[in-house]
Amino acid sequence: MTEPKIFVLVGPGGVGKGTIAALLIERDPKLWLSRSWTTRPQRPGESDDAYVFVDREQFLNHVANEGFFEWAEFLGNLYGTPLPEPPSGHDVLLEIEVDGARQVVERQPDACVILLVPPSLEVQRERLRGRGDHESHVEARIAQGQLEVEQARSFATVEVVNNDLETAVDDVAGIVAGHRRS
Ligand code: 5GP
Repeated sequence: MTEPKIFVLVGPGGVGKGTIAALLIERDPKLWLSRSWTTRPQRPGESDDAYVFVDREQFLNHVANEGFFEWAEFLGNLYGTPLPEPPSGHDVLLEIEVDGARQVVERQPDACVILLVPPSLEVQRERLRGRGDHESHVEARIAQGQLEVEQARSFATVEVVNNDLETAVDDVAGIVAGHRRS
């Protein structure tokens, strides 16, 4: 049995990582999406399955027990990927921020890191507003996002512009297929 490959979607908030991850999973039955833990409060209308929602103490206990593959603090909340346990024959898809992605590459240098970038800052701003982020958070996330792109460029395997969603999903699916063959 070959080892599962690890694919990481990284990129600023509002770039469409979550949507692209969901569409990839629908298309590719051999891709398994990891479910993260977070201390962030659930957003209005956000699915109960979006994360395992925990308090800080529960999260830090899991850190102490070495239960995370990677974890990071992002705008005041903690986010972490539990040690991946994909069903047999599946590859792993992570949708995470840049510090976590760097940890994944350090742990597993052959992980494929796909950096998603928005076509423009204005489009990214509108996407953040559209999903119900507080206005006070939108500008912080835009600034954070620009930093993330800069940092991720130093270690990402490949970069994809999410201008048109279908095209971006096709591009990422092509990258996944190519990496599996390598
Ligand atoms: P949000 O609060 O918008 O759901 O997520 C904020 C950021 O945390 C996003 O960039 C998202 O990709 C990232 N994130 C989600 N889960 C994880 C995780 O398990 N680990 C890390 N490092 N980042 C995560």
